[in-house]
Amino acid sequence: MPPSSAPRLKHLNKLRRPVIGRLIVFLACFCALLLGIQGWSLWASHQGQLEESTASTSNMARALAAQAQTSFKVADAILAETVERVEHDGVAGAAGDRLHERFLHIAGQSAEVQGLFVYGADGSWQVTALPDGVKYNNADRDYFQYHRANSGRATRIGKPVRSRSTGVMVIPVSRRIDRPDGSFGGVALVTLNLAYFGRFYDSFDIGSAGTILLALDDGTLICRRPYKDSLVGTDIRKGPIFTMMKSAGPVGSAMLKSKIDGVVRLYSYRHLDGYPLVVASAQAREEILDNWWRTAIKTSSVVAFAIAVLGWGGARMVHQVRIREKLEGELRRAGDSLAQHNQALKTLAESDGLTGLANRRLFEEALAGELARARRNGSRFALILTDVDFFKKYNDRYGHVAGDDCLRQVAAAIAGGARRPGDLAARYGGEEFAVILPDTDLDGAATVAEAIRAAVKKQGIAHADSRDGWVSISLGVVAGAAGGEPDSAWIEAADRLLYEAKAAGRDRVAARAMLAST
Ligand code: GH3
Ligand code: MG
Ligand code: MG
Repeated sequence: MPPSSAPRLKHLNKLRRPVIGRLIVFLACFCALLLGIQGWSLWASHQGQLEESTASTSNMARALAAQAQTSFKVADAILAETVERVEHDGVAGAAGDRLHERFLHIAGQSAEVQGLFVYGADGSWQVTALPDGVKYNNADRDYFQYHRANSGRATRIGKPVRSRSTGVMVIPVSRRIDRPDGSFGGVALVTLNLAYFGRFYDSFDIGSAGTILLALDDGTLICRRPYKDSLVGTDIRKGPIFTMMKSAGPVGSAMLKSKIDGVVRLYSYRHLDGYPLVVASAQAREEILDNWWRTAIKTSSVVAFAIAVLGWGGARMVHQVRIREKLEGELRRAGDSLAQHNQALKTLAESDGLTGLANRRLFEEALAGELARARRNGSRFALILTDVDFFKKYNDRYGHVAGDDCLRQVAAAIAGGARRPGDLAARYGGEEFAVILPDTDLDGAATVAEAIRAAVKKQGIAHADSRDGWVSISLGVVAGAAGGEPDSAWIEAADRLLYEAKAAGRDRVAARAMLAST
């Protein structure tokens, strides 16, 4: 494995490790974002729907108020005219006939007016819009008793009653008639047809559970959609509209629960200007939000599906990343062991089996490399060649195996001398060794050679057939600048010096500068 690949692998492993965690966090964030967007859009459309419905119910309340106001204004105007005519002209004779004609005309003209009446001080019917001859006494009616007891001349709107003449439900709108002396002279009454209001209310689209109502200020329910006879006249003062009106004033909207049927509705109410009446329209919350629910369910299902798909895809991805990581791990381990095997093979191929030093092949490669470098850089270079003295005799006396042992010890001493990082000690062949010393001058190389010689001697390997009884080596040292000479010239030069050392008596160093050649 190249030296730079180990940190790179480490870095890659560091990057790979949190991939699954990051993927899960990313997917979780994405899902949370989807949910957040969905939640927000549901909330926004919910609010939008309620706002839209509030606007629509309050517009409806405005239209209802306008209709009621017009109807009661019509009744009010008729009453003002009638009271004025009765108080000035009375009801006897031609004046009564003219008033009767006028009543018939009005009744034929306005759809909301059901009946027109003038009652005497005793409650007897004096003028009506009915055919002559139909006469009752209305002294028992609530409005009659009210006007008889109160001198006020304002128009009064009463609780709905069933008409004596026609049997239909009507709203009595009445005024007091005074005699010239100010005493009670009777009552003028206009009855408004409840069914007219009912028909108008039915024309609005308020859904099946929506409601519209008209009530008196005292809480009396006058008309309601959906219509129910039994509800007319009931007291709704404690109901949602009156409760809301107490705090919110004459106009308002709110989501409230009905007193009558318990349904939660969005109510909009409006108090009529100048009349003791309140109108309200309401739509059931359920119906308002019906569409919203449908859309919410649809879009939420899509989002849920998207999240499920994301989750499924994410789980698959995590699974695949795990498998890939496992395979990569196995591949990495296989690669590591291959690199180790290669390294071992390389070491085997480059080292000498007996001594463990570099072998001849590596020596020659290193020599060529270092010389090329020295030539390039103009740096110095030194080479030592060494040979064991009288080794043949050693083998002869101690045997080949002991000879091998001796070579190992000599090799260890030589390796101990070549200590700088660029130095290389090699077995050149047989009992010959070489030491490459880059960036070393002659003095330095001779010093190294001498140290090696002394180290071998110091090992004290007995050699009975040597000159002083111990194994020794001779060394040839050559040093200088590398020039144009072939690499073998260095070996030859060192070999010559080695021969000189042998010739001079062995166990010594012969050193000389390499002759520069160009
Ligand atoms: P000199 O002092 O002149 O060098 O004498 P020498 O006996 O050492 O001379 P020579 O170079 O002729 O002898 C080398 C001997 O080294 C011959 C060979 O048997 C022996 N030899 C070479 N390689 C090995 C080896 O690997 N193991 C052993 N035991 N002996 C070896
Ligand atoms: Mg030899
Ligand atoms: Mg020898």
